[in-house]
Amino acid sequence: RRVVVIGGGAGGPSTAAEASRRDPSLSITMIEQGEYVSYAACSMPYYIGDLIKDESKLIARTPEKFREGGVDVRTGVQAEGVDLKDQVVTLVGGETLPFDVLVLATGARPILPGIPGEDLEGVFTLKQLPDAIGIKKYLREIKCRKAIIVGAGFIGMEMCEAFVDAGVETTMVNMGKMPVPRWDPELGQLILESLKSHRIKLLAETKSLAIEKGGSCNLRLITNNGHFEADLILLAIGVRPSVGLAGEMGLVLGRTGAISVNLSQRTSHPSVYAVGDCCEAFHRVSKQWTNVPLGDIANKQGRVAGQNLAGFPSIFPGIVGAQAFKLFDLEIAATGLDEREAIAAGYSPVSTLIWGEVVPLSLPGETRLGLKLLADKSTGLLLGAQAVGPHGAVSRINTLSAALWSGLPVEEVGYLDLAYAPPFSRAWDLIHIAAQDLMKEMG
Ligand code: FAD
Repeated sequence: RRVVVIGGGAGGPSTAAEASRRDPSLSITMIEQGEYVSYAACSMPYYIGDLIKDESKLIARTPEKFREGGVDVRTGVQAEGVDLKDQVVTLVGGETLPFDVLVLATGARPILPGIPGEDLEGVFTLKQLPDAIGIKKYLREIKCRKAIIVGAGFIGMEMCEAFVDAGVETTMVNMGKMPVPRWDPELGQLILESLKSHRIKLLAETKSLAIEKGGSCNLRLITNNGHFEADLILLAIGVRPSVGLAGEMGLVLGRTGAISVNLSQRTSHPSVYAVGDCCEAFHRVSKQWTNVPLGDIANKQGRVAGQNLAGFPSIFPGIVGAQAFKLFDLEIAATGLDEREAIAAGYSPVSTLIWGEVVPLSLPGETRLGLKLLADKSTGLLLGAQAVGPHGAVSRINTLSAALWSGLPVEEVGYLDLAYAPPFSRAWDLIHIAAQDLMKEMG
């Protein structure tokens, strides 16, 4: 059987590698419009900040390695259309690739603000490896060493740190009042303090209106809050699933605008699978299909699709929305639903936010952590959590993700058996304290 995989980012390579391992008799072709396949996009900020010196360190698997494993990889090749009746993919240039099974792993595209001047030299988005290579090269050349990041989401935040590491003075321009709205404003305060202490200016409630050529620096950003000059402007206002091909093929798109799939990663057409940022995933807490463009999800969905198309039935059991990023000395992590999502999913959320030291105060080092828990008033089920602090936020959120995964009530979270020794935690961990606090809130 002939398998064609469109997209060589994370989900496509994962599908192709798994399918070829499971059934070496499959004839698998993976096409990628760009130059690179199978690379760690999540590490690009650390490459730009020069923590990772060389882009080859980001490549997980080269086309040669794929070929050795029986997957034909073709780069610089773009799929232009798919004929589902005759089961062929048409490439730009007219070549056709017949398939028995098709996998869409077309990822997501950066959203552009649609303002004049966004195509000027020195204006970047960061989605694919050539973007990161371009930014790093450009940073070496700029004279006035100033950057502006438009958008204060997690990629904007990671890039603040990268620019500071690269010795570039950074200003953030954000439409919202607080950065990363997935985290509550009380916890967001820590993020603001961290930005300030690293001399990053954050312009909140500021709308970018235009980009033009600058005077003292290359570029000037015009906003409703003044004009700012920089050599580099990074547009980081989010991504949208790439569903152009899927839409033209008549595949069903979900409520989120991403490709609708079942737990086997099959789309509405029996010969077509979809994986990664371009498709939806089942959220185990909201019980709704959602689109969460994250690399770990793309990898897992790819493995499941690869097993299924090779004849080994498998399901992707869904997500709970776990996510994290680092900002200088802070770990910032969340899982499950926030209040707005909980209400939209039909829950009656009640929450608590506690602050405390992760380890006994007698030990050296700063370990103050803010932990917020959310539960459903009527069922007592844990719904979500957020944590920000210099130490232990991610491990606590991972623990709470496991609790959400198995549908634990808050009462049980309050007595979870967690490893305790003074260098790591306290006898009553902040998780226990927050859960018991929440129990009181619920009455
Ligand atoms: P992609 O990796 O986007 O790959 C899709 C590929 O399809 C692209 O290479 C594209 O060129 C190709 N393609 C599209 N259409 C066609 C066509 N018609 N023909 C041929 N090829 C086509 N996730 C995390 O979980 N944790 C993190 O810390 C994290 N950090 C990130 C940091 C940054 C800066 C960025 C940009 C992303 C980060 N992510 C992170 C997100 C993660 O990188 C993505 O979720 C992941 O790459 C999605 O994989 P994918 O295969 O679905 O899509």
